[in-house]
Amino acid sequence: MELADTVRCYSCGGELNRWSPGDLPWVEHARFHPECVFLQANKTPFFIEQVQGTPRVNQIKEELREFAHSRGIEDYDINQVLNRLEPYESEEELFKAISSLENDEYNRGSTAVDDALGQGQCGNIAYSVP
Ligand SMILES: [Zn+2]
Repeated sequence: MELADTVRCYSCGGELNRWSPGDLPWVEHARFHPECVFLQANKTPFFIEQVQGTPRVNQIKEELREFAHSRGIEDYDINQVLNRLEPYESEEELFKAISSLENDEYNRGSTAVDDALGQGQCGNIAYSVP
């Protein structure tokens, strides 16, 4: 016998089931019942658009990817931000997340300076090269 995991939204009556570990309720709600007024009262249009993957959101993401590339940020890091499981509440929040990657690159740069001086920190381990 299979355990039922169906939940029903009290507002739109929309049902969600077959949950997987890591599923986020608001994301699943926005995926299957984007018209719900309870959802729209709690989540921004941008949040819902990201879940739906609208052309507008995809275009914003492509522009941010090009911007990040032009700053020398790696695809891996860009994807970590653009494909994050939990959508961003606003475009500003997404821009900030991409911009912070540039700061991370800068911080990595200063580690290279430490390396040149023969000492530094790798994770929690401080080291020094004779
Ligand atoms: Zn609902």
